[in-house]
Amino acid sequence: MVGSNFLPSRAMALDRLAEFVPAAGLLYEAGRNTDAGPDGRGAVSRLSPYLRHRLITEHEVVTHVLASHDLDAAGKFIQEVLWRTYWKGWLEMRPSVWRRFVEERGRQRDDFRDDRAIAQAENGQTGIEGFDDWARELVATGYLHNHARMWLASIWIFTLRLPWTLGADFFLRHLLDADAASNTLSWRWVAGLQTVGKTYLATSDNIARYTNGRFAPKGLAREAIALSEAPIEPARDLAAPPQRDLAQPSVLLVTTEDLHPESVFEGASGIVSVLTASDADLLWGDGARGFAGAAAAETAARAAAHYDRPASLIERLDAEALIAAARAAGVQRIVTPYAPVGEVADRLARLAPALAREGVTLAQVRREWDSAFWPHAKKGFFAFKERIPALLRQKSLA
Ligand SMILES: Cc1cc2nc3c(=O)[nH]c(=O)nc-3n(C[C@H](O)[C@H](O)[C@H](O)COP(=O)(O)OP(=O)(O)OC[C@H]3O[C@@H](n4cnc5c(N)ncnc54)[C@H](O)[C@@H]3O)c2cc1C
Repeated sequence: MVGSNFLPSRAMALDRLAEFVPAAGLLYEAGRNTDAGPDGRGAVSRLSPYLRHRLITEHEVVTHVLASHDLDAAGKFIQEVLWRTYWKGWLEMRPSVWRRFVEERGRQRDDFRDDRAIAQAENGQTGIEGFDDWARELVATGYLHNHARMWLASIWIFTLRLPWTLGADFFLRHLLDADAASNTLSWRWVAGLQTVGKTYLATSDNIARYTNGRFAPKGLAREAIALSEAPIEPARDLAAPPQRDLAQPSVLLVTTEDLHPESVFEGASGIVSVLTASDADLLWGDGARGFAGAAAAETAARAAAHYDRPASLIERLDAEALIAAARAAGVQRIVTPYAPVGEVADRLARLAPALAREGVTLAQVRREWDSAFWPHAKKGFFAFKERIPALLRQKSLA
């Protein structure tokens, strides 16, 4: 199956990007909505597990694409790449939306009584053509085309009338690219919570058209009435990025949120050792654990060679391991690429006081890409999108 072909290495990500670049212009724009199925080639890049864990970065992808196409021709693809950046920035300024999802999912796990309906949906046994195939494809491959994600989520919420948080949880447990921002906010968008009142309704005609006639399900909901919720907190300002003092002796901590530390801490003379966490207890499913765990091991070796420093790998991100690494290196500072809102950020926030008690500081360094784009994610994507060309020009990319 094409979808299961995600080898967890940076070389694979770079090969996939190189192979995709010639098609990143109008071919992508014309074909991106069609889901050719798990065995079809399709027009999309299938870069998401690599981008999600930053084994390859948005900056690199956009740079390579703009070396072969101008911004007009590749505009649609670049816009899609920037959806990820946008969702991360949006959630960063509203962390309570992530907390609300986690709480609501916990409540639904306890309270939702129809376990059979959830099991049927997750096992692809609802009898709904397409939906059952995508549910099985997700479990088998760890990947779904964007349109299939939208159809599945819409049918889950509006036809099967199942709680959206349990659907989002099903995705998190199986996607190789499972991501706090893109997943939570996309499910909220389908449900009519993200753009208040605007829902996404999956229709049989649209599914038939964009699956090349593979599926034309019957009995889908005919309307999608937006879910509602208590108002969310207003956007907070982004914290100022910490001092980029990279000469001070430090342990470099690498997590599965960002597996390309070389482009955050280029030539950092202060790095004395590298500690990589494979985050086995923080990722949601076996697929993502396998993918990101292997990619983290590869990154540990790559970073050790890049900085010419000793490197070690831990499975679990905890205070004891970090304090031990700082002591072994004889330093009181740990630097790490910034962890956006999600499980890793929550864990780092929880363990920071224990580090502080031992006199160890933890500095999270945000990428320039994120610092350039995130502040513009305060409102909807349309306003953000308008800024893309100017922001790319500022970065000398367009
Ligand atoms: C209900 C739902 C849940 C989703 N959950 C996740 C998730 O957990 N993790 C995740 O990475 N993506 C998620 N997405 C977004 C999107 O479906 C995937 O990123 C995309 O399908 C990845 O395939 P690709 O790399 O072939 O995409 P391409 O079309 O080739 O796009 C290139 C890159 O742009 C970014 N991108 C494209 N579309 C989106 C989008 N709609 N939102 C955010 N970034 C995008 C991705 O980084 C992608 O790799 C979700 C979408 C929906 C509708």
